[in-house]
Amino acid sequence: MRSGNLGYPRIGKDREWKKALESYWAGKLGEQDFHTELKAIRLRNLKAQQERGIDVIPVGDFTYYDHVLDTAAMFGLVPERFHYEGGYPNLTVYYAMARGSREATACEMTKWFNTNYHYIVPELGEIEPKLTRNRPLDAFREAKSELGIEGRPVLVGLYTFLKLSKGYTPEQLAPWIDRLLPLYGQVLRELEAEGVPWVQIDEPILATTLAAEDLTHVARIYERLTKEAPGIKLQLQTYFEAVDHYEAVVSLPVHGIGLDFVHDGGRNLQAVSKHGFPEDKVLGVGLIDGRGIWKAELQSKLDLLQTIGEAVSADRILVQPSNSLLHVPVSAAQESGLEPTLREALAFAEEKLEELVLLTKAGQSGAGAIASELAVSKRSREALQQSPSRARKHVGQRIADLASQPSSRSGHADVRREAQQQRWNLPLLPTTTIGSFPQTPEIRSARLKWRKGEWSDSQYEAFIKEQIKLWIDVQSELGLDVFVHGEFERNDMVEFFGEKLDGFAFTANGWVQSYGSRCVKPPIIYGDVEFTSPMTVAETVYAQSLTEAPVKGMLTGPITILNWSFVRDDKPREEVAYQIALSLRDEVEALEAAGIGMIQVDEPAMREGLPLKREQWSHYLDWAVRAFRLSTSTVKDETQIHTHMCYCEFHDIIDSIRAMDADVISIETSRSHGELIGSFEEHTYDKGIGLGVYDIHSPRVSTVEEIGSMIDRALRVLSPEQFWINPDCGLKTRKYEETVASLRNMVLATEQAREKY
Ligand code: GLN
Ligand code: ZN
Repeated sequence: MRSGNLGYPRIGKDREWKKALESYWAGKLGEQDFHTELKAIRLRNLKAQQERGIDVIPVGDFTYYDHVLDTAAMFGLVPERFHYEGGYPNLTVYYAMARGSREATACEMTKWFNTNYHYIVPELGEIEPKLTRNRPLDAFREAKSELGIEGRPVLVGLYTFLKLSKGYTPEQLAPWIDRLLPLYGQVLRELEAEGVPWVQIDEPILATTLAAEDLTHVARIYERLTKEAPGIKLQLQTYFEAVDHYEAVVSLPVHGIGLDFVHDGGRNLQAVSKHGFPEDKVLGVGLIDGRGIWKAELQSKLDLLQTIGEAVSADRILVQPSNSLLHVPVSAAQESGLEPTLREALAFAEEKLEELVLLTKAGQSGAGAIASELAVSKRSREALQQSPSRARKHVGQRIADLASQPSSRSGHADVRREAQQQRWNLPLLPTTTIGSFPQTPEIRSARLKWRKGEWSDSQYEAFIKEQIKLWIDVQSELGLDVFVHGEFERNDMVEFFGEKLDGFAFTANGWVQSYGSRCVKPPIIYGDVEFTSPMTVAETVYAQSLTEAPVKGMLTGPITILNWSFVRDDKPREEVAYQIALSLRDEVEALEAAGIGMIQVDEPAMREGLPLKREQWSHYLDWAVRAFRLSTSTVKDETQIHTHMCYCEFHDIIDSIRAMDADVISIETSRSHGELIGSFEEHTYDKGIGLGVYDIHSPRVSTVEEIGSMIDRALRVLSPEQFWINPDCGLKTRKYEETVASLRNMVLATEQAREKY
């Protein structure tokens, strides 16, 4: 039995990777120094794994931005607009693909399966692929010569790569496989010639819902690849769910299969027990949670290992994390600010490596070999379990009583619409924004001063009030219909609420990569979530006191708070969602009681929580919708509930969106406007709806005509009585001038539209 890892966080203990990238982009770090710095980080990451005694260390998973982009770059798949001249793309081209340049818009970015990591979507189009550089080979050589590590090169599998790419029709899939096969073959042959014994090929697509033809393609790919380089062994790695069609997958002509035994709902284990596992293959046992941050309960992991051991001999077992550790922070050892019971229960990447080594040791020599560590792991989990925060009485009662908590509005949508229209008498095509206004350096530095104690609470509050006042004035000068206070007091839409609710903790350094150099530090939900006192009322009421126009209260919804946090693993996620929902309901009621008549509960992460397997969608959507409704259902008919979602593919969850029963929904559309609106041709939607009329991700100011044509397009399928005019998403990343200019054009375009409709 051996221990293996599947991938390591790139960012470094102090996010030095992020800092290096950003300095390079800002021109503060020259190209040569940049390469030197990244190499140092890369080697440190390898060393961290070597020092902890991991047997199989992945190489080539490190990146200058994203590993899918690297794969595209390696095959020369660079869209024409980047003026690429062949060879491995230089840094200018590489980063233009990732981030855009003056002449060319960036490639699209989207979520990596059901994680919060985003990859750059390869565009295949007309380009003829070729191997521009054997990255895995370079990585192998470097690890060997610099650190004496015989690493295992990692590749994004051909089928996963194609399925995640765009720019081809379904009929072109097979030809694309044919085009890429020789290149993958070449990569493998060169590795073989170097004497590399094993390669890890990631095919997480095998853990999604597959059709029969997918399996045919995959079988063809691996039959060919094993022939291309017969001297090299392929470890086919899956993760994030149970594999669909276990028997077909494990009989693929490769030398090892890696399975996730953490996020599989027990199905991988059932399959192994029922069908056995081929005797000529190595099983990568994904045993340690590569996405969660909790210490493993080592004894139960050992039990699992033992069950698997009944089907697979020990010499063919690799003890692994469930997936690349890219999705967890680097080191829990640094978190000295946390309460000891909590800190002791955490395991980030470094600690997970230690767990892997321990489990391997026990797998080799019996549980006795790690007796004291088993006891420690048990104790630290139990200590957390016994902490009072884990079982708050009031929360427990409310959850026990869930069935009697209102989860639908008392008045029907039509009655509410009437009552709300009477209350505000809004014009046709009301204009509004999504919530945040620019978070300027001035605001950030004010918050920092306050956090450091250089500013008193009242000083900071006065500053925030000034900002609110400034933007209330801007909104009235622009002539918007529904105002917002601007969210200046929030640096993050989840952290802000987490800090005010019971049950959350915040790490000092628990960063994970979200996309490119952008890292997030998700809060930890470790205890029962409970409302303590109003969180947003003061700012909202202050804003409302400055204007006659309605000011929308602004909250982050339960599902988004859940999906953007690390969540305790002793309770079902849906129960945690209900706890958050009930806490938010208290806030909604507090806003309403303070006279706020429109309340927006944002759920940008609703869609991204969807399970990988289709058959589990409805269960998730049911409880997600229920949580949203629990938080928004107790208000009066005349109180208008809004919600907002980002990058929402509408058509496949339309029933759930309807079921949320929000009076008004706004959806980010700029990146797929036509498509989204098109979906209303097939699906009716009868409540208030705003489809973003300009893209907030770009500093470019849309013209009145452009916005006007967005409105016209939407009004071909939606009625003017239901349509709202708003930007795509919050404006916090934009500058003052851009924001004002864009909103001005939005209002002008709306005025023109009002004449027409
Ligand atoms: N209200 C939030 C904002 O305007 C919504 C952000 C989001 O959708 N991600 O920033
Ligand atoms: Zn948004």
